[in-house]
Amino acid sequence: MINIAIDGPSGAGKSSLAKRLAADLGYIYVDTGALYRAIGLCAYERGADTSVPAEVEKILPETHLELRYEDGAQKVILNSRDVSSDIRLPHVSMLASDVSKIPRVREFLLDLQRDMAKNNNVIMDGRDIGTVILPGADVKIFLTASDEGRAKRRYKELIEKGVSTTYEEVLEDMRARDLQDRSRDIAPAVPAEDAVVLDNSDIDFEGTVEAAHRIISSKIGE
Ligand code: C5P
Repeated sequence: MINIAIDGPSGAGKSSLAKRLAADLGYIYVDTGALYRAIGLCAYERGADTSVPAEVEKILPETHLELRYEDGAQKVILNSRDVSSDIRLPHVSMLASDVSKIPRVREFLLDLQRDMAKNNNVIMDGRDIGTVILPGADVKIFLTASDEGRAKRRYKELIEKGVSTTYEEVLEDMRARDLQDRSRDIAPAVPAEDAVVLDNSDIDFEGTVEAAHRIISSKIGE
């Protein structure tokens, strides 16, 4: 199976790029952030404090997560409930980042991610795909962009979804979450040594897609 890893900070455009590449290549797109979001949501709904590892660990034995695909779109099923929309609520981002620092949470999600890659050609996006989940991935791209560019993109997405927020608030939340993701002890969100860093601050979406296709062709000839 061919495995392509796309890591990077929030708002760099990983999911749009990964979805497009998956459609172009006929691979399955796996959004791993959705799994951490589902655990964050589950912990919150059960009244656990996500900054206290023991409280989050307590809910894991009763947490069943599944990924399903409908017309190429990934659905996240948490204990038989489709939480694909709920995990996108803005407050869930930081809950996801909190639970992602907990080693037992990362272990809990490891096999699910590796099994997807073992059984399918995948484009998997996240923070530690190239470093921890699939260290032997055929292609590793670390997608990044300036803080301002990423916040502008995220702000536009939220406004389009009808969420009431400001650009400053989005920028501040994004910086706090990225700092927490980058500086954690376990699986920090940093490029793998053999990743190609793609900075799309000054290129548009189509330019980013072209650049990614060039990187993929140079590695696997597709
Ligand atoms: O990608 P997304 O913004 O949905 O991810 C939510 C959070 O989940 C990230 O801020 C990060 O803390 C965590 N995450 C992670 N490892 C991944 C994917 C996401 O730690 N592979």
